[in-house]
Amino acid sequence: MKYILALDQGTTSSRAIVFDREGRLVAVAQREFRQIFPQPGWVEHDAREIWSTQHAVALEALKSAGADRANVADFAAIGITNQRETTVLWDRATGHPVANAIVWQDRRTAQRCDQLRAQGHAALIQRKTGLVIDAYFSGTKLEWLLDNVPGARERAERGELAFGTIDSWLVWNLTGGRVHATDASNASRTMLFNLRTQDWDDELLALLRVPRSVLPKVVPSSGVLAESESSLFGAPLPIAGMAGDQQAATFGQACFAPGMAKNTYGTGCFMLMNTGATPVQSRNRLLTTVGWQGPAGKDRTAYCLEGSVFMAGATVQWLRDGLQIIQAAPEVESLAAQVDDTGDVYLVPAFAGLGTPDWDGYARGTLVGMTRGTGRAHIARAALEAVALQSADVFAAMTRDARIPLKELRVDGGASRNNLLMQMQADFLGVPVVRPQVTETTALGAAYLAGLATGFWRDAGEISAQWQADRRFEPRLGEAERVAKLARWREAVERSKGWARS
Ligand code: ADP
Repeated sequence: MKYILALDQGTTSSRAIVFDREGRLVAVAQREFRQIFPQPGWVEHDAREIWSTQHAVALEALKSAGADRANVADFAAIGITNQRETTVLWDRATGHPVANAIVWQDRRTAQRCDQLRAQGHAALIQRKTGLVIDAYFSGTKLEWLLDNVPGARERAERGELAFGTIDSWLVWNLTGGRVHATDASNASRTMLFNLRTQDWDDELLALLRVPRSVLPKVVPSSGVLAESESSLFGAPLPIAGMAGDQQAATFGQACFAPGMAKNTYGTGCFMLMNTGATPVQSRNRLLTTVGWQGPAGKDRTAYCLEGSVFMAGATVQWLRDGLQIIQAAPEVESLAAQVDDTGDVYLVPAFAGLGTPDWDGYARGTLVGMTRGTGRAHIARAALEAVALQSADVFAAMTRDARIPLKELRVDGGASRNNLLMQMQADFLGVPVVRPQVTETTALGAAYLAGLATGFWRDAGEISAQWQADRRFEPRLGEAERVAKLARWREAVERSKGWARS
């Protein structure tokens, strides 16, 4: 057998990538699907479209890897990775969703979350799930569907409905409705899953009024959980790996040892650090999450701490679309390089509030320190610095929580191609930043999880050996300058806070 098929179901597109034994990309197919915005703050997907695009790209990728119906036997397994937290509720008998999927970005349950906080449940929820109470997670989205889709609650209580995040929905469809399962990394984003018992938590189910009968079975992230229907790809394939996108990227970056961390620079930034076999409760407003769970038998769970920055690459999009001082995202690098520094200008990109560590939904975008000498190059440079400085704040919170010195940061995502940004990142962290050759780390992680479960790859050591650096950025800033820069940035952040409250 030569290949693994990775299904990468993202927020805006479904992708399928074929990897070979060396972890090289052999074929890729991608299709976008509709984003549905029924009201301000609401974001939905049609789950049927998610499945149809995902099936179509899988077939396309198989075909371009040379696998028609005859030699699908070249494929050892399927690995799944997915946009996290997005919530689907469907009819077990027909397989039809009872409503559109509620996407992770959807804020419709923000008031319910305010209420849960006001009722004093934050400490309980953090202790059990590792999460802060937020509309981001699946729990209140599922409660909303049960309360608002006519008849849903009664039908759920009769055992007629199934809930799942996108991983569960794909497995259900891949198995023709035979298997209703989720992996521990996805389960840990629902606000219903107890990190210590590794099971759905009855107290939280009661709090959010979710009947146990709707929930999927929790399975390891690496392990054969089912075979796909033979009609889908011409022959059945073992489904052997499953993890949420950020956890899969951490695995694809081979962050197997405690203290290893990766940061993905996409629309936002998501930094995850492996903290080992016990969950670390954050004192600095990070999330505690399951990284992945190994194959049954040696079912070690790796936990991670996670920090989220909402505006990263999206800040560059704003320079392009809002300010129109660049025409394409990569131009930001040469524009910013026209000046040696920002001239003490700071851009705090709190356009959608601030995530880790400030969690201020009322903060707004702020540009401070401008003088008559300030030009577009200074602003472009301040925008790139803001991406790196926000990530530096997350990194500092991680270091304080984990008490493990972080030796380097592995990076991926679209904006990690920007060399100036990566150098700034190394400078502001004071540790090296390392970019791998394969930056498709999310799909690669899903492939690795599936390949390890089926013996396609032997062990984590073999995978670690495949990880190759493309470029390493060494910190060049002195420690005193670094500390001063971070302190000045925090002054700018303070000025952005609470703006939209009045
Ligand atoms: P996502 O998966 O969140 O859609 P990607 O990993 O595809 O994101 O990265 C795209 C983001 O990276 C966009 O927000 C874009 O503005 C930004 N980006 C792309 N290239 C560069 C670059 N050279 N410098 C800075 N930002 C970039």
